[in-house]
Amino acid sequence: MIFSEKWQRRTFLGSLGALVGTLFSPRKLFSSSVAAPIPAEKIIGFGATGNVYQELGVTTVINGQGTMTVLGGSLMRPEVEAVMALGSLHFVSVPELEIAAGKRIAEMLKLPQGNTALVTSGAAAAMQSGLAGILTGDNPKFIAQLPDLTGMKSEVIIQKSHRNPFDHQLRSTGIKLIEIESQEDLRKAVNPKTAMMHFTNFANAAGQIKVAEWARLSKEYNVPCFIDAAADTPPVSHLWDYTVMGYDLAAFSGGKAIRGPQCAGLLIGRKDLVAYALLNNSPHEDTLGRSQKVGKEEIVGMIKALESYLSEDHEALNKEWQRRLEVVSSAVTKVPGVSASYFVPDIANHVPHLEITWDPRRISITPHDASSALRNSKPSIVLPEGEDGRKGLTMNSFMLQPGEEKIIAGKLVELLKANAV
Ligand SMILES: *Cc1c(COP(=O)(O)O)cnc(C)c1O
Repeated sequence: MIFSEKWQRRTFLGSLGALVGTLFSPRKLFSSSVAAPIPAEKIIGFGATGNVYQELGVTTVINGQGTMTVLGGSLMRPEVEAVMALGSLHFVSVPELEIAAGKRIAEMLKLPQGNTALVTSGAAAAMQSGLAGILTGDNPKFIAQLPDLTGMKSEVIIQKSHRNPFDHQLRSTGIKLIEIESQEDLRKAVNPKTAMMHFTNFANAAGQIKVAEWARLSKEYNVPCFIDAAADTPPVSHLWDYTVMGYDLAAFSGGKAIRGPQCAGLLIGRKDLVAYALLNNSPHEDTLGRSQKVGKEEIVGMIKALESYLSEDHEALNKEWQRRLEVVSSAVTKVPGVSASYFVPDIANHVPHLEITWDPRRISITPHDASSALRNSKPSIVLPEGEDGRKGLTMNSFMLQPGEEKIIAGKLVELLKANAV
């Protein structure tokens, strides 16, 4: 209670939104001065053709790889785009909006009591500001001081097999990562400098200590635990599963399978820690997270994306994704020497996948060269090779637009036949 009062005072004092709300009648003021969004067909100049990428000479690709940030993540839901446009029509206090959005998201996800959410600029930002909040609490001196950790805890424990490029966002706070492997290593590693225990969800199978056990041990040692579950929806239940399991904080991408704004993510967890994370984040100045601005549009867009995601028929979607793969599979396996099989990765991009392999004595091109040839074809198609430890070309279909599975099937058949010996 004491904490939340302090937090609210600090975030609200000096923020214009609250003042505007009390001094004016915003609806009346704004309705006369604000323009409605322009329908796409009325655009003149840049964008008039309807394809901004073509206008810039940038190649668009058919995405058979999945929710890759480097390819643009996912295609935002149209209703999210519409709500973001509505969000751009007014000024608000961003901290006030963040708190209200967190409350709404916690209700939508039916998070256990005492938990809330923060819309961040992505899962990577959620990792950095979540840890920053654990380190600083609500101490303004500490917040301004990061990444200088003088006076704060300075170590984060991680299983060796869980190290990955995204732990840069943890190291950016100034902490040192302490790598462990066994439960015994963990017991020895915990000390008064330990700030957090980090878990990389996609590495669950690789580490000795599994996801539920990690949360349990963090309670035993009284150290907050964090889970990076950025790409780990579907299933949709993962949005609350880890909080229920006992994770103090969890990070998700908004711009992957949830199909929210590309520059959005979620930090979900304990109210006090989420509040400290916001204090370390934009729009607050002199903070580590000021560079991770999240706009009012992304915040409202993220709520809309979650609303849509939660109400979708996930089983029907799964069937449609499988159907698209079957279109490709049945076409390519008609080429002599080609076989195809289905698989679903346990975690991350947990959707139907297809692996296409062929007898090298009958088709001379390597999967690597086939992947490059598709990338350089017109239209350009992205199908990776060697993913998930597999030898062949792989693909999934959940980021395809209607009919693209037929284009992929046609191009693949053409390429494989052209290389038949
Ligand atoms: C994509 C991803 C991130 C980063 O998420 P953003 O939303 O792009 O910031 C972090 N961790 C993992 C495991 C990811 O797959």
